[in-house]
Amino acid sequence: METEKKVVLKAEHIKKYFPVKNAVSHGKVQVKAVDDISLMLHEGETYGLVGETGCGKSTLGRTVLKLIEPTEGRISINGTDITELSEKQMIPYRQKMQMVFQDPYTSLDPRKKVGDLLMEALQIQKIGDRKDRMELAMQMLGKVGLRPQHFYRYPHEFSGGQRQRVGLARALILNPSFIVCDEPVSALDVSVQSQIINLLLDLQEDGKVTYLFIAHDMSVVKYISTRIGVMYLGHLVEEAATDELFSLPSHPYTQALLSSVPSSNPKIKKQRIVLEGEIPSPMNAPKGCVFHTRCMYSMPICETERPQMKEISCGHCVACHMYDQ
Ligand code: SF4
Repeated sequence: METEKKVVLKAEHIKKYFPVKNAVSHGKVQVKAVDDISLMLHEGETYGLVGETGCGKSTLGRTVLKLIEPTEGRISINGTDITELSEKQMIPYRQKMQMVFQDPYTSLDPRKKVGDLLMEALQIQKIGDRKDRMELAMQMLGKVGLRPQHFYRYPHEFSGGQRQRVGLARALILNPSFIVCDEPVSALDVSVQSQIINLLLDLQEDGKVTYLFIAHDMSVVKYISTRIGVMYLGHLVEEAATDELFSLPSHPYTQALLSSVPSSNPKIKKQRIVLEGEIPSPMNAPKGCVFHTRCMYSMPICETERPQMKEISCGHCVACHMYDQ
């Protein structure tokens, strides 16, 4: 009998709205960057989060880590509700939840040597003395494929791929159970991309680390993820195991997104679905189904009622009125 995997992240009905000034009316409006999304991630899985630029993927990633506060919703990590915790109360939990950024250069203090950056994370969490911290930092550099002499170098002395290895080392040195990887390879050359992806998979080998992997490149997400969630304009529109999503994409937006992914078999000709119109502004998202302004199957109900996520087969959920019956 298969044992239930431990739930690492439980995010329920997360909303993140940003108040902004309307340039025309000078009144306040809200940008609904994330609008009622629930996620559950299990130990050792990689959950890919995809969607066009500006759909709210990164905001969701930062919100579940409480790097920004949710407007509404609840977040639990390893069974502990962290929603109401203050910055200070969050410190012990920070050890277990980390983030890897697209451009590690902007997240690494340029005045500090890499060794000091790694040891600093351990010091904040009061782990070991200086000698222990140095040993752990050296070991971590080796794990991510860097050499001991890199300990004494500054971030600007590294290539893009090496800097991403440093970013990974810094995230992993605290032995986290959950890491949000926010477009970690999109700024890298293709050859370096695969090295970093394989490194992420190797580091997950013991099956304990859970990744929320945010990206817009479907091929990368397909390679690394066990499950995938598709976002459109702040909403989760489909969620399924990777193979299922690629073989049976069910939401019209997912179908359009996947139709643009080149097939690995040149004999298979894919018909590309070109979406009409621009992605609407999150300041003025369409009522009902947020995709109805671009959906070729739109029905009257789609303009007034927001479709809820429904399970259409085991673990495969879609938010679309076509699956109401
Ligand atoms: Fe299209 Fe309607 Fe489904 Fe939205 S709910 S994706 S508009 S068919």
